[in-house]
Amino acid sequence: MKDLPSPSDSETLSPALAALWMNVCAELTGRIGEAEFERWFSPVRLVRLEPDALWFSAPNAIYSLWIEENYLSELTASICAHLPTHPPVRFEIAAAPTMPLPAPADVAEPAPKVEQEPDSAAFRHEKLDPESIPDTEPAPVSGRTPADRKRIRQRGEDAGLSEGYRFDNFVVGNANRIAAAAAKAVAEKPGKTYHPLFIYSNSGLGKTHLLHAIGWDSLTRRPKSKVIYITAERFANDYVEALQENRLVAFRKRFREADMLLIDDIAFLSGKSGMQEEFFHTFNSLTDRHKQIVLTSDRPASEIADLEERLVSRFKWGMTAEIVMPGAETRLAILRRKREERGANLPDSVLEFIAEHVSTNVRALEGAMLRAATMSSLHEGELAVDPDELRDLLADYLDDANTSRHISVQEIIELVATHFDLHPRDLTGKRRTSRLVEARHVAMALAREKTSLSLADIGKEFGGRDHGTVINACRRVTSKIESNASTRRTFDFLRRSLLAPAPARPRGGQKAAK
Ligand code: ADP
Ligand code: MG
Repeated sequence: MKDLPSPSDSETLSPALAALWMNVCAELTGRIGEAEFERWFSPVRLVRLEPDALWFSAPNAIYSLWIEENYLSELTASICAHLPTHPPVRFEIAAAPTMPLPAPADVAEPAPKVEQEPDSAAFRHEKLDPESIPDTEPAPVSGRTPADRKRIRQRGEDAGLSEGYRFDNFVVGNANRIAAAAAKAVAEKPGKTYHPLFIYSNSGLGKTHLLHAIGWDSLTRRPKSKVIYITAERFANDYVEALQENRLVAFRKRFREADMLLIDDIAFLSGKSGMQEEFFHTFNSLTDRHKQIVLTSDRPASEIADLEERLVSRFKWGMTAEIVMPGAETRLAILRRKREERGANLPDSVLEFIAEHVSTNVRALEGAMLRAATMSSLHEGELAVDPDELRDLLADYLDDANTSRHISVQEIIELVATHFDLHPRDLTGKRRTSRLVEARHVAMALAREKTSLSLADIGKEFGGRDHGTVINACRRVTSKIESNASTRRTFDFLRRSLLAPAPARPRGGQKAAK
């Protein structure tokens, strides 16, 4: 293991802390495995012990967020093994951040220029040879002539990119910060930071926007590189056509010679084993050539039904970033941005109303704004700002429309507990009878489907469980629904119950179907 603390690290630490860090590294490697340790902890350092915090440094916020979300319990347990009572673990970003993250609710800037080689050995693919892409090295972005820009636009269109989706019109907030930062990192240094990058979210939260933005930014930096944007569905159709027309060689050449493959909605490959096989080889061939793949999905790779394990494990090699629904502040920033883009004549008060009352997804936010803008132009002036009128005009976009009513995890826990004849406390507690475990899994799967919370946040609501437990619960429920009609009926019944406005909902009217 090459990255145990070096003597130079130890010089700045007391001998006791240096020894502690050595032991913690060894312990942690045993717990999470060498590969994961290398990937996430090799650039992390123990920096100091203060009365109320044990401080670690990470090269950027992606490391610290990722570790806090995924490895905090293992890290804490490893520390406890050598220092039984210690203050909580805290992270600070190392002095020279290698990949600065934008400030909350900022409008995203053009991709930051990285002056020095990032300290991202942990992310780099083992076989990577940075010299292997001579033809596609970045050209300076500034100083492009109109003819250059025209050529880039043409290449982007040929690559399947849509003009309107760029980094500079993607509004960044807490909900999408990691995904946006990782997207910028791969556009800047394809194949060198996160391979692959896997972005998932519910529909309408900006996955496709980010994929196109990566493509444009990448082409602007390396106009000669070969970028391909394609949906998984189109990939599958093209494959079938190529098969029928005896053009498989050309099909394979097209994808396997790409420098960057941006593939949207990969869950479409679920259950299609021929396509999965083809995509597996495409994936390997790009990986062997140190090229960049970015995938999007409406769920984590491990939740995609009937996806070969070898693909699931490859999708998890690099970086997985989830996007959730932005909070009201970012929603307002997005609406302002869209108003500017569309030249819509709408007062702030209308945008504020929409930001506050539409929280299903960004597409709905945009739809509501466009409808309001259309009304406003028909009225040849500013739209009346009467909340009742707005409410009528935008009724089907608003959260209190039946299907998009705000549903809390607590409400789900209560509903499921009543249904299974349990106490809500049972679902968040530690006991593990088979009935309890089943109810807990169903409640987690419903929370996943009916709220916009991240996996980690759902886990927290269930007595501080981690995101892996939630993934596991969702996977079990999905497979049980497929194989067992009574589970399916129970789940559908609970789902429908949640759609009804809260007070009218039947409570505990039906016993769990066994
Ligand atoms: P998905 O692929 O996740 O279903 P899209 O990328 O198609 O979602 O986004 C839906 C719409 O919302 C698009 O018009 C997109 O530009 C917009 N959108 C989503 N997130 C943002 C954001 N953070 N900033 C600006 N526009 C956004
Ligand atoms: Mg999409």
